[in-house]
Amino acid sequence: SKLFDVIIIGAGPIGINCALQAKKKGLSYLVIEKGPLVNSLYNYPANMQFFSTSEKLELDDIPFISKEAKPSKQEALEYYRRIATSNHLNINLFEKVEEIEKLKSFKIKTDKNQYHSKNIIVSTGFYDIPNKMNVKGEDLIKVTHYYNDPHLYAFQDVAVVGASNSAVDAALEIYRKGGKVTMIVRGASIGDRVKYWVKPDIENRIKEGSIKAYFNSEIKEILEEHIIVKTANKVQKLPNDFVVALTGYQPNFTFLKKIGIKLEDDKRIPSYNSETMETNVDGIFLAGVICGGEETHKWFIENSRVHAHQIISTIAERHKKTTF
Ligand code: FAD
Repeated sequence: SKLFDVIIIGAGPIGINCALQAKKKGLSYLVIEKGPLVNSLYNYPANMQFFSTSEKLELDDIPFISKEAKPSKQEALEYYRRIATSNHLNINLFEKVEEIEKLKSFKIKTDKNQYHSKNIIVSTGFYDIPNKMNVKGEDLIKVTHYYNDPHLYAFQDVAVVGASNSAVDAALEIYRKGGKVTMIVRGASIGDRVKYWVKPDIENRIKEGSIKAYFNSEIKEILEEHIIVKTANKVQKLPNDFVVALTGYQPNFTFLKKIGIKLEDDKRIPSYNSETMETNVDGIFLAGVICGGEETHKWFIENSRVHAHQIISTIAERHKKTTF
């Protein structure tokens, strides 16, 4: 079969940028994406608004026009999809990469096919694997690790687990659509990375009692109509219809290890050269939020767009050397 210069795993914003840059440099490339285009964004909350202004989310200086300074999910889907269509990017959707074998070049096995490539970019993000609470009842259908739309929760007893941006946004939105929200927070306060323009809102709702919050607390068990919550000094049984557990996500460390990438220190940060983004496996590069290991807040679209340029110029440079 054909030998690609580079195969890009994952069609998130950063994978798309890698494809754009590869195309511009005249490299042969293919993006393989297990879901729809920008799968993570597609699964974000329906009413989310980015914290970045739209120009910070732009790829390759292609203008991102949004109604307000900070774009909505729908606008972002529109933007990234238009980039893929108008640049005729070579992307296979709904195809999952399962294995990579290093021979003289790389052999990539998916759930549908096999490919060969000289280089690989892993831009698989972190949104597929939620951090579990590991409690009894977590697999009940009333429990989710992905919040979408508040209407579902109107008039219901809803436990929101966590105190980071996604948990706070969900708690406020559900409360404003008539849900009875109880936050279960492991730490002593609302997270300090919560957007500075949202923090007073949540703190005041908690103070006035519109949203209940249990700090230094965790869920011990989830039952059909209740949750068991352990607070600092007691264990309580609270009425509950839904659990929205927004306790973060993690990259697919099993996959990274399987393809030979070393994970460093207790944050499991994958090993890579910060100039070229090449990992300890020659020819495998990392791009986007996956680079942070467990520190999933470290990289985002704004500050990781540049990875595409670093990687593709490295590959193009080597390509020149081998073709002349
Ligand atoms: P992703 O977008 O996660 O893309 C990875 C892709 O890889 C996915 O489409 C996935 O389906 C695919 N994939 C995974 N495994 C495989 C496999 N084995 N085979 C094939 N495909 C695979 N960032 C900002 O800069 N500004 C913001 O305002 C902002 N707001 C955010 C709001 C929310 C609610 C969240 C959750 C995140 C936000 N972020 C923001 C972070 C931003 O969304 C991520 O940084 C961005 O999606 C990262 O892009 P990525 O391409 O690295 O990864």
